[in-house]
Amino acid sequence: MTLRGRLTAAFLAVVLGPVLLGAIFIAATVAAIDRGRATERLAVAAGAVRTSVDALCQQLRAAADAVALADDPARAAGQVVSRGLAAAVLVTDPTGRAVHATPDPPPAPWRDCAAAGRTGEPVGALTVRVELRDTAGTALGGVVVAQPVDPAFVARLAAVTGVAVTLLDPAGTPARVAHTTEATGAREAVLAAAGTLRGERVTETDDGRYVRLAGPVEGQPLPLVLSVPSGQPPGLHATLVTLVLLAALAAVAVAWRLARVTTRPLVELAAAVDRVAGGDLTPRVPVRTHDEIGRLAGAFNRMTRETGSYVAALTSSRDQLRGHLAVLGDTLASTHDLQRILRVILHSAIAATGARAGAVLLTDDAGTLVARCTEGLDDRPTPDGPVRVPLGSGVVGVVATTGQPRRGRVEASSVPVGEPTCRTYIAVPFAAPGDDPAGRGGEPGGPADPEPTGRRPDVAPDGCGGGALGVLALYDRLGADEFDDDDLVTLRTFAGHAAVAVDNVRMHEEAQRLSLTDPLTGLWNYRYLRESLRREVERASRFGRMLSVLALDLDRFKQVNDSYGHAAGDAVLAEFARRVRGEIREVDLAFRQGGEEFVVLLPETDARGAATVAERLGAAVRGTPVPVEGHADARLAVPITVSIGIAVYPDHATTGGQVLEAADEALYAAKAGGRDTWRVAAVSAAPPTREIPLPTGAHSPDDGLPRAGGTPTTGGASSGPHPPRQSRGR
Ligand code: GH3
Ligand code: MG
Ligand code: MG
Repeated sequence: MTLRGRLTAAFLAVVLGPVLLGAIFIAATVAAIDRGRATERLAVAAGAVRTSVDALCQQLRAAADAVALADDPARAAGQVVSRGLAAAVLVTDPTGRAVHATPDPPPAPWRDCAAAGRTGEPVGALTVRVELRDTAGTALGGVVVAQPVDPAFVARLAAVTGVAVTLLDPAGTPARVAHTTEATGAREAVLAAAGTLRGERVTETDDGRYVRLAGPVEGQPLPLVLSVPSGQPPGLHATLVTLVLLAALAAVAVAWRLARVTTRPLVELAAAVDRVAGGDLTPRVPVRTHDEIGRLAGAFNRMTRETGSYVAALTSSRDQLRGHLAVLGDTLASTHDLQRILRVILHSAIAATGARAGAVLLTDDAGTLVARCTEGLDDRPTPDGPVRVPLGSGVVGVVATTGQPRRGRVEASSVPVGEPTCRTYIAVPFAAPGDDPAGRGGEPGGPADPEPTGRRPDVAPDGCGGGALGVLALYDRLGADEFDDDDLVTLRTFAGHAAVAVDNVRMHEEAQRLSLTDPLTGLWNYRYLRESLRREVERASRFGRMLSVLALDLDRFKQVNDSYGHAAGDAVLAEFARRVRGEIREVDLAFRQGGEEFVVLLPETDARGAATVAERLGAAVRGTPVPVEGHADARLAVPITVSIGIAVYPDHATTGGQVLEAADEALYAAKAGGRDTWRVAAVSAAPPTREIPLPTGAHSPDDGLPRAGGTPTTGGASSGPHPPRQSRGR
């Protein structure tokens, strides 16, 4: 049942209850009063009936006496009838035979006034009998005087008593009506009620009449029934019922209206709440009053409005974030461009936290945090270019060394040195193992770090305990608030991305490097040699420079293996490579071509310079045997020498492959020349010579660099630092 229904029912009960009770009380009171009055009236009427019948009997007795005392009874009888004192007079002899009778006697049976109690007979007339006797007392006969009990008699009684009078004919069972003044329609009801009556009791018929008996009793022998109609106002009950019904209708209408007025705001509110529960935040309810319900409606409207705008803000920031994450995902998946990845990560972090500016700083080799990517800081450039913060100082420096994230507010007076000025900040470190990827370029920079670093990254964004790879820092959260814990969680996620990205790029570079290096010696491999030859020859050609190629082969290395074992041979190869690296410039490139054969490229170097390097390389191994660890002989040191062939672009060939071939031929020459020495390739078609060919352009270093295409000169041996010579040693 609805609230409105309950309110209506309650109102009806409150209003209709008293109305109903009142109506019942009125009906009962009226009925009681009416019955009392009717009973009283009937009692009075019964008394009047007795009096009337008694008076009639007195009158008949007097008439009988007069006839009996008369000298001429027949004449006296005629006078009695003619005067109306009786309807008929009958004079009898002692035997009872009629000696005189007035004409038109009433119908039998006759009832004597002195008769008492009920009889089963109808009554045709009331009579009085007087005995005739002489003075001696001898019965002479009698005089009977009669008055008919007819409708006129009953009507007279009714007129005297003022109530309806009915004379019963008790001959049948049940009794019938002999004469009555009651209305035709009411006779049966009166007759039925009379059958149940005894003595002076009063009963009520179905049609609202009160009925009582008035005889036969002592002195009144007629079976009479008195009846009066109810004294209640006609239609009282109908009126009362109608009134109650009208009151009920009015109450229903008023109750319904009241309940409606009371519950309408609640119904509207309930419907609105239903819609809100279904996810629709647009419904508003009208505020009509300032009572509790009005306040409730107002609060509801405010609540949905606030929630709606909050949801809208959330949705839009979610959509923005989705867009950023999509870009971030695409970027992470599609590129190894670290700069671009960091830019997207920073942009996404700024968008997700509502910061005004931010920076990604990576640790460089010198222990300084360098901003690799910034956003929103452009309007405040630092004098020294990118933001640089030494590890351990300032906010980000401390974050990087402690590995603990920090957030807070900066007082205007204490802007950290070297860091961007800001009001609020948050900085989260991120860690990955190994060297700072910031120190690596996009292409292999040389054999400076030949050791493969295969450790997996520990990408925990914080708690890295000082091994921070970098720091992700955001500045000036929009609004007055500081960055909160939620921002910290968000930023940790992005810092994790940054760590993974940096590590991925690093791993990618490492993998690329490994595919181009020789695992035993850490030198570039043959694959990279071909690539480098092509590139260096092209560069030399484009800039008109020279390029020297050295082919190296360890002497009698097979014996090393045979004498000391393959492992010792490997150790010797690794040590040889280390010594070669130590003897060349940073721009030079050293390769292991295969086995114990090596190649060194010397950009912008002529034959003279190459010869110098060859000499240095020979010296680096010649006098210093290679100690071999882990061998049975703990103090084992393997003496080695190397033979070197030299060829120069463009003097000896015009392509990378041909230069290398020329160097190989020169190497054979060196081997043939007794080993542990170097030879320069023969110029053009000329057979290789042991002497230094005339290094082209070696004499014209305007800028200190050998230039290609110069006039070949002879006798350069005397001007060079390394005079031509026979093979060294053997
Ligand atoms: P030479 O060059 O002076 O003529 O004599 P050699 O003994 O060096 O002759 P050769 O170049 O033909 O032999 C190369 C030997 O180097 C063969 C092999 O036993 C050894 N060798 C090649 N690659 C490796 C390697 O990776 N490890 C070790 N331990 N030995 C190698
Ligand atoms: Mg060899
Ligand atoms: Mg060899």
